[in-house]
Amino acid sequence: MTASADEVKRAAALLRAGGVVAFPTETVYGLGAEATNLEAVRRVFAIKERPTDHPLIVHLATAQGLEDWARDIPATARLLAGTFWPGPLTLVLPRQPRVLDAVTGGQDSVALRVPAHPVARDLIAATGTLVAPSANRFGRVSPTTAQHVRDELESKVDMILDGGPCRVGVESTIVSLLHGKVVLLRPGGLSVEALESTLHQKIEMAPPTGYKVRVPGTLASHYAPATPLEIHPADALGRRALQRIRQGHKVAVLKLGADDEGFASSGIMTFPMPTGAGEYGRVLYATLHRLDHAGLHAVLVEAPPDTPEWLAVRDRLTRAACNLPKA
Ligand code: AMP
Ligand code: MG
Repeated sequence: MTASADEVKRAAALLRAGGVVAFPTETVYGLGAEATNLEAVRRVFAIKERPTDHPLIVHLATAQGLEDWARDIPATARLLAGTFWPGPLTLVLPRQPRVLDAVTGGQDSVALRVPAHPVARDLIAATGTLVAPSANRFGRVSPTTAQHVRDELESKVDMILDGGPCRVGVESTIVSLLHGKVVLLRPGGLSVEALESTLHQKIEMAPPTGYKVRVPGTLASHYAPATPLEIHPADALGRRALQRIRQGHKVAVLKLGADDEGFASSGIMTFPMPTGAGEYGRVLYATLHRLDHAGLHAVLVEAPPDTPEWLAVRDRLTRAACNLPKA
């Protein structure tokens, strides 16, 4: 079910009047507001209950808008934008003075992306430039369907545009191009291999603590489902699940591929997950949303392979597992 042209028009009018509208992108659903409207941007933070030092990504209609928002743009940025926009890649660049402090968290840099979803593109073309963090409360699982947004934020937003399930399903890859370096700030929908083969250079990985730990010693519960999530190696998965079941716990197991070990026949609630990283990423959040409503004590997840194409999925699973009380 995709929003009609009339609905997109109505949403654009609401945004131009300072409203907040949830809309589909190819990564996850975004909570949109005009990037130049301070009041609207503040409402986005309030609706999400997001700390105000957590900067927002500015979404452009086309790469032509780059100069309006960023300065000192290096050739690498133009190459990446030309190759991967529209798409699941966010570039962090020195900002133009016009960018609101509220958007950048007061930093001298701005994060920019051109999304690929046709509804997002039509909406941005009709409005200008939108901030669009994921349309969920801070720290919860991102929405990949309009229903996920309705479940969590329906009463708080002016409108929700439906564009069907998100094609990518995990957030964009974020790359910093500041200080003449190329640094991966967050793995995401675009693979590091794709970036490296385009740039003909290795990309530095930012230490994960940079955006994981906001307060020393405190882990942000990013991407966390309400149900505790544990990651286990394949050979321990069934054993751990049976232990929990014997303790009287209700658990579900996300295993890679078909249930060859016969988990289900031993009474374990088993969800076979895709064995391809892209397909796994596409269904991950929807699976977590579904299981969050199942009254489980825990979700036990088989650790995906430790290879580059699984980087984004492993990152999100690791963050989701951060809410585990340490045993
Ligand atoms: P999201 O949580 O998907 O809305 O993406 C926001 C993320 O983009 C932030 O948590 C940062 O990691 C990154 N980001 C946004 N703006 C900036 C910026 N100006 N400098 C560095 N990173 C940024
Ligand atoms: Mg988010």
